[in-house]
Amino acid sequence: MIPMVDLKGQYQSFKDEIDSGILTALEATQFILGPNVQAFEKEAAEYLGVEHAISCANGTDALHLAVRAAGIKEGDEVITSPFTFIATAEAIAYVGATPVFVDIDPRTFNLDVNLIEAAITPRTKAIIPVHLFGQPVDMAPLMALAEQHKLQVIEDCAQSFGAAYGDRMTSAIGLAGCHSFFPSKNLGCYGDGGMITTNDAQLAETLRMLRNHGSKVRYHHDIIGYNSRLDELQAVILRVKLKRIEQFNAGRRRAAHRYSAALAQMPDVVPPFEDGKGRHVYHQYTLLSPRRDAINKALNEAQIANAIYYPIPLHQQTAFADTCAGVKLPVSEKVAAECLSLPIFPELTDAQVDQVLDVIRGVVSG
Ligand SMILES: *Cc1c(COP(=O)(O)O)cnc(C)c1O
Repeated sequence: MIPMVDLKGQYQSFKDEIDSGILTALEATQFILGPNVQAFEKEAAEYLGVEHAISCANGTDALHLAVRAAGIKEGDEVITSPFTFIATAEAIAYVGATPVFVDIDPRTFNLDVNLIEAAITPRTKAIIPVHLFGQPVDMAPLMALAEQHKLQVIEDCAQSFGAAYGDRMTSAIGLAGCHSFFPSKNLGCYGDGGMITTNDAQLAETLRMLRNHGSKVRYHHDIIGYNSRLDELQAVILRVKLKRIEQFNAGRRRAAHRYSAALAQMPDVVPPFEDGKGRHVYHQYTLLSPRRDAINKALNEAQIANAIYYPIPLHQQTAFADTCAGVKLPVSEKVAAECLSLPIFPELTDAQVDQVLDVIRGVVSG
């Protein structure tokens, strides 16, 4: 049995530190926006190279609060990828704006920056690039285009904690970066958690208010906000894991490169492409194959976890049926039909990688 991620094994490796940190926080009883939340925000901002980090309840809220703080509202259009988790587009819909899906690059699975300009209308207010599976979007041409058309850029970094584009971390490039600490993410807690980063002090202040009932001073509410705070106990866990994020991401890259070296030699399999413009942190290891369904079946039979991220692009989801009627995005549709994600986590051993490879070899060379 090989799982997609091994949270149990990972916990064992720093159990003492987590357990004692949680016990100390229980004794302190400062459960809402307590000292660990504040320390984590500071440490995360430092690691990511940003001025401000504002934690919140989950990654979906991070996107929602960022979209709202950026002033995006009803009637506006926001360009994003159709090949992502639905939360990216939900955040746009929450404020009454319309997601406009632009097709992806067939190699990186990220927004095809060359196709963005044709989708810009007088109503377009922002672009939300998603650094999918841990590979940064090609941000230099995207930022140039955004500047030229006066569009805001909000990065969806839910899958890219620790990924870099050039010498900058993802989330330090656009107006804001949105993170998720869902347990299986590269930096995950033991429940839900999220964070927005920005170098804009005004935006940071608005975000701090939005996550806490629109309030700067207790019981003084300047705007209508939300209850969206990171839990103190989750912050304890995140601080322990943030110290090890470089090691975690290096482990993911090591396993990914072992997969890719072998898969490149096999027929009917395309290993994921690294564009070399920064650091891919392999939140997922996703191959393409016309024989995807046969590989999926063989891995299941061998008790090796695998998953299809994502089987239905967002423009084909029922939830967007009215705004996307007749929309055709052929690259996303083809990738959705051929993609398969393999187990990938920092502790994945060479022997486990080889075991997965043997099963795939048995299918494609058979
Ligand atoms: C996980 C994820 C989110 C949402 O994060 P949650 O913490 O689960 O709300 C948003 N966007 C992408 C690309 C994700 O992978």
